[in-house]
Amino acid sequence: MKPETKPSMEELLREAGPLVHLDVLDNLLNQARARSLWPLTFGLACCAIELMATGAARFDMDRFGAGVFRPSARQADVMIVAGTISRKMGPVIQALWEQMPPPKWAIAFGGCTIDGGPFKYPNQYAIVEGADKIIPVDVYVPGCPPRPEALINGILKLEEKIKAGKRFQA
Ligand code: SF4
Repeated sequence: MKPETKPSMEELLREAGPLVHLDVLDNLLNQARARSLWPLTFGLACCAIELMATGAARFDMDRFGAGVFRPSARQADVMIVAGTISRKMGPVIQALWEQMPPPKWAIAFGGCTIDGGPFKYPNQYAIVEGADKIIPVDVYVPGCPPRPEALINGILKLEEKIKAGKRFQA
């Protein structure tokens, strides 16, 4: 009769991993991720002016851990799509999104990025009717343009989602 062998430490860890390690670690990482968002420095049209105002001294996105705007998509983890998306810019936005490392999140900021806004009409051919037609969107902030307070509210909503582990982009 073959003697019963004890499972190796590696096997034990592999079995226990999904039950023990990931839950606690993911929870800790989510708390850290939510309070250290690095937005991509990026704007498309008038809503981008409101985005800039939100980052400046009066509204100060740093208070919410989201003020470190990165000039490279490879260093950013949140894309705030601000402004009308022309069909010409659609592939550029997708390329920037692909360059961002996971986990990553997107906010559609303003009417144009939600559904085309004032530029949406039958048979129009110039704009993309919503950021979610080209990338996955986590939070929508309506308005034309939305106020900086609305963007801050959107960031707080995103932070809630991240802390709750509700979504992780691949
Ligand atoms: S939603 Fe309004 S303010 Fe924002 S980019 Fe569109 S037209 Fe400009």
